[in-house]
Amino acid sequence: MHVYGLVGNPVGHSLSPPMHEAAYETLGIDARYVTFEPEPSALADAIAGADALGIDGLNVTIPFKQDVLELVDPDPLADRIGAVNTIAFGDTSGGDGEHVGDTTPKGYNTDAAGVTRAFDRHDVHLDGSNAVVVGAGGAGRAAAFALADAGASVHVANRTAAKAADLATDIPGATGGGLDSLDRIRDATVLVNATSVGMEAPDETPVPAEYLHGDLAVLDAVYTPIETRLLREAADAGAVTIDGAWMLLLQGVEAFELWTGRDAPVEAMNAALRDRLTA
Ligand code: NAP
Repeated sequence: MHVYGLVGNPVGHSLSPPMHEAAYETLGIDARYVTFEPEPSALADAIAGADALGIDGLNVTIPFKQDVLELVDPDPLADRIGAVNTIAFGDTSGGDGEHVGDTTPKGYNTDAAGVTRAFDRHDVHLDGSNAVVVGAGGAGRAAAFALADAGASVHVANRTAAKAADLATDIPGATGGGLDSLDRIRDATVLVNATSVGMEAPDETPVPAEYLHGDLAVLDAVYTPIETRLLREAADAGAVTIDGAWMLLLQGVEAFELWTGRDAPVEAMNAALRDRLTA
């Protein structure tokens, strides 16, 4: 049996187990997806222990995405973002997902692919687009690198302007500013909310409605609630709207495909995720 899992603290309400187990069931893969909640001081032991036990892969979430970087061999994108959310143990280069060899675990950032694949799924072309990312934390960094790599021109707006400016210096051609630069959305075609504003707060929005317009495609990383005030107001303005469950789903799809070398059963994973989100 293959074992995959999630390391974070807390992970009690994670939607990853039902999403990944739906994939195993659909494809007849003998595997389980388990959650682990180590103390922060035990992270290195936890990763080494998972490797020693033959665990095939781990997702990594708050608060460990940055700290785990030094415990793995990050791919160039994860290295540039400065965060890892997916670890593959052993050498899976044979493509069958088998755990062979005793190599340093590989680290990836599939949040970035979650962003670009979410826009792809909605037929939004990123190459040549003019994008604004609101937020410069973990999700904001992943979104900004992903959009820039896909050919978008990126502006980052963040409450703490210095963090946006720092992020922008890491991305050739990008710019950064405070929330007073949100008016750049008026000329943008792509908008990502990568702040936590609106999470469990259906009346809050990170973006004044007056900046939203019909030429925008808006991805909200927040997925509780699924329909945020930002997405409601973006739909009212005639924008394409993409909820945070798409990003969550497609980062998981990307991780599944890295681990197993197989195409993920996206619809089954989506159904399992949305069942839980609307339950
Ligand atoms: P994080 O690293 O803690 O960053 C939080 C961001 O939100 C920072 O940019 C912060 O600005 C900003 N922020 C917080 N409160 C704010 C406020 N009242 N007004 C304006 N900005 C505010 O968190 P994260 O990991 O990036 O996660 C951000 C959101 O994305 C969360 O809701 C998370 O659930 C979601 N997310 C979704 C997915 C997905 O797959 N859908 C994946 C990852 C994250 P400062 O820098 O000024 O503090």
